[in-house]
Amino acid sequence: MSFSKNILETIGNTPMVQLNSIVAEIPCQVLAKVESTNPGNSIKDRMAIRMIEDAEKSGALKPGGTIIEGTSGNTGMGLAIAAVVKGYKCIFTTTDKQSKEKADILRAVGAEVIVCPTNVEPEDPGSYYSVAKRLSLEIPNSYWVNQYDNLSNRQAHYESTGPEIWEATDGKITHLVVGAGTGGTVTGTARYLKEKNPNIKIWAIDTFGSLLKKYHETGVLDMGEVHSYVTEGIGEDILPKNVDFSVIDGFTKVTDKDAAVYTRKIALEEGIFVGNSAGALIKGVLQLKEHFKPEDVVVVLFHDSGSRYIGKMFNDDWMRERGFLDEEITKAEDVIKDHIDKPLIV
Ligand code: PMP
Repeated sequence: MSFSKNILETIGNTPMVQLNSIVAEIPCQVLAKVESTNPGNSIKDRMAIRMIEDAEKSGALKPGGTIIEGTSGNTGMGLAIAAVVKGYKCIFTTTDKQSKEKADILRAVGAEVIVCPTNVEPEDPGSYYSVAKRLSLEIPNSYWVNQYDNLSNRQAHYESTGPEIWEATDGKITHLVVGAGTGGTVTGTARYLKEKNPNIKIWAIDTFGSLLKKYHETGVLDMGEVHSYVTEGIGEDILPKNVDFSVIDGFTKVTDKDAAVYTRKIALEEGIFVGNSAGALIKGVLQLKEHFKPEDVVVVLFHDSGSRYIGKMFNDDWMRERGFLDEEITKAEDVIKDHIDKPLIV
């Protein structure tokens, strides 16, 4: 019989899939590592289990304890499924910017979710960072995971994501393009790949409203760069300890609209139903096309599943409200054409 002893054993060993029509203008092969096939539907399962197991080893997390984290959803999902299997409780803080589905999914696997405001400074007592930190001080036998500064995060990618990419490409990878949030994915994966071949170029995808790209290019921590944005999963308004800027060769920024539009295109053109940071990533690859030569092998990481964005990037009304649908509206008739069958209310 061939089976896993529990769901956690199925984390990793995700498929590598060649992209075709969506990258037709890129002169070389582009391969996507599709992380939505992890049991929690995202790459974050890898670091979540690693952070828990390291905390168990160090004694920071004790039997029956409560796991506390500020999470936009994917890390929470990984932590929550590990908590179910290992017998811990979970309390997550998240922001009101994140899809409602993400919080509901976390509740489905037994977590308590506290929604905090997005538009406050990280140091504000109401921010999702501060609330997580405070709860970890107040609740006995609790452990604040802190994925931003917990270096088990990037170590998970050094030990699993990096080697899997190296093996799947038979060492032929020349470029890695990956979205950066906590920086754990890009740093851990890049460190492993650069140890194998220092010529591999690492590009990170950032978003407008984040300070990462400017900090990489100038060393200046410019809070003037920071504003709220729609793209989920990438960009930061802090410098997480997990980012090692020295292994990143360059950043490119993708707009909220492009990220949303390309999230849809991946599903429509490749049949791969993945999340919003994958859309940002593919648009970023197209922005970087002059860096690639015909013999190159570019690997991209699709972090999570499209199912978490049904109410957002995959919803026409949500897209239209933000001006993300390129519809031609020249007459009053165009404005009402999608609901012409309904009564007119004046
Ligand atoms: N994409 C998605 C959907 C994510 O949830 C995250 C995690 N914030 C990232 C990209 C970025 O990964 P990392 O935090 O490892 O930089």
